[in-house]
Amino acid sequence: MNVPLLDLKAQYATIKDEIDAAVAEVFATQHFIGGPQVAGLEAEAAAYCGCPAAVGVSSGTDALLVSLMDAGIGRGDEVITSPYTFFATAGSIWRAGARPVFADIDPATFNLDPAAVAAAVTPLTRAIMPVHLYGQMADMEPLQAIAAQHGLLVIEDACQAIGAEYKGRRAGSIGDYGCFSFFPSKNLGGAGDGGLVSCRDAARAKRVSLLRNHGAEPKYYHSVIGGNFRLDALQAAVVSVKLPHLDDWSEARARNAARYDRLLTESGVVAKGAVAVPRVVQSRHIFNQYVIRVPRRDELRAFLGAQGVASEIYYPVPLHLQACFADLGYHPGDFPESERAARETLALPIYPELSDAQAEYVVARIAAFGR
Ligand SMILES: *Cc1c(COP(=O)(O)O)cnc(C)c1O
Repeated sequence: MNVPLLDLKAQYATIKDEIDAAVAEVFATQHFIGGPQVAGLEAEAAAYCGCPAAVGVSSGTDALLVSLMDAGIGRGDEVITSPYTFFATAGSIWRAGARPVFADIDPATFNLDPAAVAAAVTPLTRAIMPVHLYGQMADMEPLQAIAAQHGLLVIEDACQAIGAEYKGRRAGSIGDYGCFSFFPSKNLGGAGDGGLVSCRDAARAKRVSLLRNHGAEPKYYHSVIGGNFRLDALQAAVVSVKLPHLDDWSEARARNAARYDRLLTESGVVAKGAVAVPRVVQSRHIFNQYVIRVPRRDELRAFLGAQGVASEIYYPVPLHLQACFADLGYHPGDFPESERAARETLALPIYPELSDAQAEYVVARIAAFGR
């Protein structure tokens, strides 16, 4: 049996007519940049996230960058974030001209440990950038309290967490900015690159929408320097078709996660300490990834691969140890939980259309490895 990490063809088959009609409509108008599809998606996504306003942008990475630009964060400033995340989180801080300052993660959730964040605050700190890794929100209340105490902004990297909830509040609605990605492998994926910034304050969203188009208003008059961070009409049209299906897909992912939890536990590998299943501590986890901990991770991954089961490592090198950040002066051992996570984590196929037989096969192979 073959179990891929993600099966986008299975998803497309269920919505092909709707997608094809939406794409045909954009082609019929030949209006490819901005326009009614983008404005429509912005309104729908803001409502979905529980925010007064949202701005479509060119990618999740650009959502992070344009939020930092709007916040006026740059040279001489520090932004505290996790070293255990996709590169774009810290890369965007660097590109804005600021310094990424890392704080270690809570090993139970892989998200920022608020106590570590509090200890990392300096007089140069301007913002905290929590990441809602794998689809579960970071512990926002203590992070918001630290931000309030020191007058910091909070920029949520919600790229893996659209629709995730913390005490009933949606990702992107608690911090000052929420950054989302429509990369095809996210729970809400486009037909290419795309992203979105949600704002708790509509005036900020207005400024972000200026920055996304070179700060021009009116056309050819620039009061601020922005960039080309625009969302294509085609991407907006595709994402708008998918948004009404998102809750069904995220619920299917959560059901798949519960099934893995049960099958792995029944197989005995959990009791043996060979595998640890993910912990759900927040009110809604959307399972962009289902990530287990395995002490013999690299051997298991190779074994599964040979048996037709795809898996992935998110992420093998924590950001404080990336070659490009050597100048930041971090060393191995600085963030032990992030380094341990980088050695032990393995993401299993969790996409909504995963069948019972596939899940059972994955767990049977893991159990065979553990014997
Ligand atoms: C996907 C992702 C991004 C970047 O999104 P792109 O749309 O690929 O630019 C940023 N942060 C995290 C945590 C992500 O998972």
